[in-house]
Amino acid sequence: MSMRSKLMVGNWKMNGSLTANASLVADILAGMPAVHCRAALCVPSVYLAQLQALLTASSIDLGAQDVSPHGSGAFTGEVSADMLHEFGVRYCIVGHSERRQHHAESDELVASKTQRALAAGITPIVCVGESLAEREAGQTEAVVKRQLAAVIHANGHCISEIVVAYEPIWAIGTGLTASPEQAQQVHAVLRAQLQAATAHADRVSILYGGSMNAANAAELLAQPDVDGGLIGGAALKAPDFLSMLKTASR
Ligand code: PEP
Repeated sequence: MSMRSKLMVGNWKMNGSLTANASLVADILAGMPAVHCRAALCVPSVYLAQLQALLTASSIDLGAQDVSPHGSGAFTGEVSADMLHEFGVRYCIVGHSERRQHHAESDELVASKTQRALAAGITPIVCVGESLAEREAGQTEAVVKRQLAAVIHANGHCISEIVVAYEPIWAIGTGLTASPEQAQQVHAVLRAQLQAATAHADRVSILYGGSMNAANAAELLAQPDVDGGLIGGAALKAPDFLSMLKTASR
């Protein structure tokens, strides 16, 4: 839809080093003059200061991969939304399936994190998605609606300020991608759910994530409710990421 310019977000997960980051970002920045979509990089929190400096004066926004549901205090190991904001963070992934799986994050916890990000002026990228077993049991729509409902419930009219990422778990890091039709079907369900909650659902970018790469990005991005991508593996290779950014610029 024309009112939403595409948003392409790299999720570095737990990858990188000071040297590797500097070289990857330099290679990406060299190709940015040909890019005309919105772009962001979500990096490990220890590298936010490095990336803030590297991305200064570029059109790429800085993102984090998680945020504490608490404001401040005795929460050893956690990073608050205000701290992220202080380092120029514009986006924060919340509820990534790897965190839901390995850290037992509930829908309610994800909703709290979303609230904290919004209150700090950070755009949460709320991840939803079904497992293979859930898809095969015909539960895809029920699962993603339950996950998004918790976030809508906690955030009320602010919900138009979020970004949603539909990431089928079976497609993440597996090389299996949802077909453009499968993606669009779920994105349309999520759009309708947002429309029931806000008059501004057309402003919400709904990203697809799950083995998106330079070869399949165009057909996914051509779907009416696919407003961009959340990209893991392919975002770690400058030529691939740049190729996808250029595809999203058309
Ligand atoms: C992700 O981590 O959000 C993701 C989509 O990973 P990949 O692109 O590697 O499947």
